[in-house]
This record gives sequence, structure tokens and C-alpha cells, in this order.
Amino acid sequence: RLPTIYAITPTYSRPVQKAELTRLANTFRQVAQLHWILVEDRATRSELVSSFLARAGLPNTHLHVPTPRRYKRPWLPRATEQRNAGLAWLRQRHQHQSAQPGVLFFADDDNTYSLELFQEMRTTRKVSVWPVGLVGGRRYERPLVKNGKVVGWYTGWREDRPFAIDMAGFAVSLQVILSNPKAVFKRRGSQPGMQESDFLKQITTVDELEPKANNCTKVLVWHTRTEKVNLANEPKYHMDTVNIEV
Ligand code: UDP
Ligand code: MN
Repeated sequence: RLPTIYAITPTYSRPVQKAELTRLANTFRQVAQLHWILVEDRATRSELVSSFLARAGLPNTHLHVPTPRRYKRPWLPRATEQRNAGLAWLRQRHQHQSAQPGVLFFADDDNTYSLELFQEMRTTRKVSVWPVGLVGGRRYERPLVKNGKVVGWYTGWREDRPFAIDMAGFAVSLQVILSNPKAVFKRRGSQPGMQESDFLKQITTVDELEPKANNCTKVLVWHTRTEKVNLANEPKYHMDTVNIEV
């Protein structure tokens, strides 16, 4: 049986949310043995996401945790609490039985994922890495590989990062998550761009990383970002004869 891929997706309410989730679900539905852990940045589960998931046709777990208001700042990292909630659920679920083979991947709701990416990450033994497109002020960032080992990073931004890699650029085996029960994303002292390094430092070393995507020479995931929607002509009060979820 294939190892299960657990995709942890933090998500928050905004005009494009349902469009993003629809695109993501359309990708995930084509991936065998994938379990979607969708974590809403809210105090309660929203009706929109609940009914969306009910019709998504995907094995899923619907979690929620609000980001404390003091952390909602442009210069602070996003979705720390949500990713940790996903990690906690995974550990809780597997605490009794010895873990079935599984692979964890952090899948933001606005990125673009090729199907090949999931084939690559499926064989992760501990921690695997690959290039990410459209990130760090460059066309791509990638781990530099020599003789099958990661020896450095091709990046144009903060080259001092111990793991100069985006959240979409790595996967972790379930076994590693379970045998490092304290590994979490940290708020304290963590700047944007350092979340990945802070987390990976707790569970692996650069020397141990498994390069995927043909020794990290292929871009299979893109750090796309959706343009902010123009709602300039949206009426102040509800004017339509029907109430439509968008
Ligand atoms: N996110 C969230 N709460 C927020 C902002 C973002 O849950 O207040 C989620 C968002 O839906 C996405 C992930 O966190 O899945 C990363 O956010 P974003 O895509 O805005 O970050 P960037 O593209 O700048 O890395
Ligand atoms: Mn994003």
C-alpha cells in the first residue's frame, strides 16, 4: 500500500478563499492516498469551508485555530498556529498504533502543485527537498546537490538561512514527526523566511536531506500568489435578490 500523504493547509477567510480551495481540491483529488488536513485561521469552523469539504470528495480533517491578534502583522510569519494544529492532530492520531507509512507536506492554499510532485515526495524516508518556483525574488530557489547530497542553496534572499527553502519545498516522513514530538513552528524569535529553517533544524540536518525532482533540477511546485481582488464596486448593503456564496 502507498504511504499516505498528509497535506496540511492553513487557510483564512477572504474573497478568493473558495476559489483557492477549489483549485487545490481539484489537484488533490488526482493524488492517490492523500489526506487533507485543512486548518482554518478562525475561532470556529466556517460554514463555507465545512460545506466545501463535505462536497470535495477527499479524505479530510477540518481543524481550526485563530491566530492571536498580536501576531497578525505583515512582518510576522503567517499560519504558525495552524501548521502546529495540523502537527498536533497527526501526532494524536498516531499515538497508539505504530505508524503506518506516511509523508507530511505543508501545502499553502495559493500555491500551484504539479501531480509529479506527489510522486516524488511519496518516497520520502526522512526529509526530502526539491526546488520551488517563483520565490525569493527569483524564478526559483533550489537545493544544490553534489553526489546525491545537499551541499548548499541557490537563492537570492537571506543566504544565511540554514535551510534556504520555502515551506513548499520539503516533505517529512510521519515517522520523523512522531519521533520528534516537540518539533513545532515557533513564534518567539522567528522571522518570516526563518520558519522553515527553525522547524527543519529540530528534525534533521542538511547532510541527511533527500534530494528529489532529479537531484533538485526540476520545478514541480510554484509559490504563486493571488492578486488582491478589486471589490471597488461592491455595494455597501446587500442589494441582490439572492444570497450567494462566492
Ligand atoms: N494564512 C492564514 N492566516 C493568515 C494569513 C495566511 O491561515 O492570516 C494561510 C494562507 O491561507 C496560506 C498560508 O497561510 O495557506 C501562507 O500565507 P500566504 O500565502 O499569504 O503567505 P506567502 O504566500 O506570503 O508565503
Ligand atoms: Mn502564499
